[in-house]
Order: sequence, then C-alpha cells, then structure tokens
Amino acid sequence: MKPFTVACLLAAGLLLPPALAWSDPATLPATVPLPPPQPPARPEGLLPPELQVTPLPPERPAELATGAGRDAGKEVGRKTDEPQPNTAPNAAKEPPKDGPASLSEAPLPPERPPELSGGAALALKVSAPDDSACLRRLERLGARFEALPSLGNGQCSAPRPLSVTALADGVTLEPAAILTCRAAEALARWTTEVQVAAQKEFGDSLKSLALGGTYVCRGQNHDTDAKLSEHSFANAIDVMGYGFTKRASLKVTAAPEGTPDAAFLASVRTGACGFFRTVLGPGSDAAHGNHLHLDLRERNAGHRLCQ
Ligand SMILES: [Zn+2]
Repeated sequence: MKPFTVACLLAAGLLLPPALAWSDPATLPATVPLPPPQPPARPEGLLPPELQVTPLPPERPAELATGAGRDAGKEVGRKTDEPQPNTAPNAAKEPPKDGPASLSEAPLPPERPPELSGGAALALKVSAPDDSACLRRLERLGARFEALPSLGNGQCSAPRPLSVTALADGVTLEPAAILTCRAAEALARWTTEVQVAAQKEFGDSLKSLALGGTYVCRGQNHDTDAKLSEHSFANAIDVMGYGFTKRASLKVTAAPEGTPDAAFLASVRTGACGFFRTVLGPGSDAAHGNHLHLDLRERNAGHRLCQ
C-alpha cells in the first residue's frame, strides 16, 4: 500500500506541477483556468521570446528601411520591387557597409545587390557615361549643341553624339562638329584659350573655327588597315583654320617663324595639349601638314601625344 501511495503522490506531485506549468497548452485553458498563475505568464513569455530570441527582425528595419518595420520582412516580393527605382543611387553604397556582417541569415540584404550592383550596375555605368554632368558643363561654357541619335558602323560607334554649332563668345564651328560630350567640352575649353591668343597676338576676336572631319569611320590617316582613328568614335577634331572678326582668316600651316601668325599657331597648338591627349599638326607627319588633329584617345598611364 505504501509504495503505491508514495508512487501516487510522487506521480501526482511530479505530474501535476509540470502538467500545469509546462504541459500541452491546449489542455491548460480548458481544464484549469484558475490555479496556475503560470498560464498568464506563458503568453507573456511566448511573445517576447519570439522577438528576443531572434534579434534579426529588429535589425532589418534599421538597415533596410527606417519606417518599414517588421512588415517589410514579410513582404519580400514588395521589397524587391521598391528598392529598384527609389534607392538605386544610395543602395549601391549601403550594402557593402552593413549587409554581410549583421545579417547572415536575412535574405533581404542579398537581394538588393544583385539588382543594383554586379553586372547590372556595371552595365549601367558603362552604357551611361557621365553625360548629364558633361552636358551641364558644356552649357555653362556657352556652347550651342543638340543631341544626335547614336552613330554606329561596324566597329565605329558614338552612343551619344552631339552636333555642336558654336562655342563661347559666339565662335562658330564650320561646319558643325559631331562629337562626344567630352570631346566637345575639351574643344570648348581650348577655344577659350584660342580666344585669348587671338587678342594677344592680333588684337582681334576669334570668330570661327574651320573644321575638317569630326566623326568619320576610318582608320588612322585614312589607312583602312590601320587602327581605327578617334574620328571613328566622334572623339577627334581636325582644325583647318581660324576666322576672326577683323583680320583675314588663318589656315593651319607651317607659318614663317617670328611672325604673329606663327606665334598664334604655336600658342594655340601648345595650349591644346592641356585639353586633348593627342595633338598633331604641321611637322608631326605628312598627314597633318595642313590641320591640327585633336583627340582624346586614352593611353597607358595617361600619356599624351603632343607633337
Ligand atoms: Zn584627325
């Protein structure tokens, strides 16, 4: 008898408290609502653990969206759509900072980079050069120009060419030049120095630039077997001569030394080396005896060809 009672007591003692305290939740509210002070404690305990055990949900909002909160984590589909247009410029900078360290489990941070960085972002950078800023600079330089449809012919290409008709002080380009924005900007900046040289050497104002080819799909020096000329990329200008308000126009040539013409031509030619990466003219070679070739060809270590 005793063993049984002990066993029963033990069993009851062991079973009851646990049954009240930790047994199936389903049985508790139904059978004993009054005795256990613990059941009320559970609901409180159950909710906090979810939030406390997983510190990640609170962290996500901080990184991904200050106002989004926990809902953002549930609506993954919406999140992936929203960041694209809204956070494109900023997101490319943010992910590297906080993405990898704090949230190894969260799938949300990784989702952004695929869209905004990597190949897609590189493609955007390559296909969208800094034209907007360049165009604003070109406007401030006083240039008159308009955008042309992209040009392309085999390996020759100019994705965003401009037709430039005039530069600062109303200096006209004859004929209009088809150039990339960067080449047009270099031409505009250089022309301001040409204007200064005209005032200094002639006491006159530069009125126009006589141009040869700008965009022409061809090899260097018109050699079909040679490397493509920068003219093939709207990245080069051939200046044939200079027009002035009062005095006679001046062709690019090997002027007699010691004359104002020679001083002017030498001055603007030297000045061009500050704006272009290639400057060739009379004396460089037979192909450039009657014009100044200016281009922005990229070379290793930023070397320039100034002859
Ligand atoms: Zn040329």
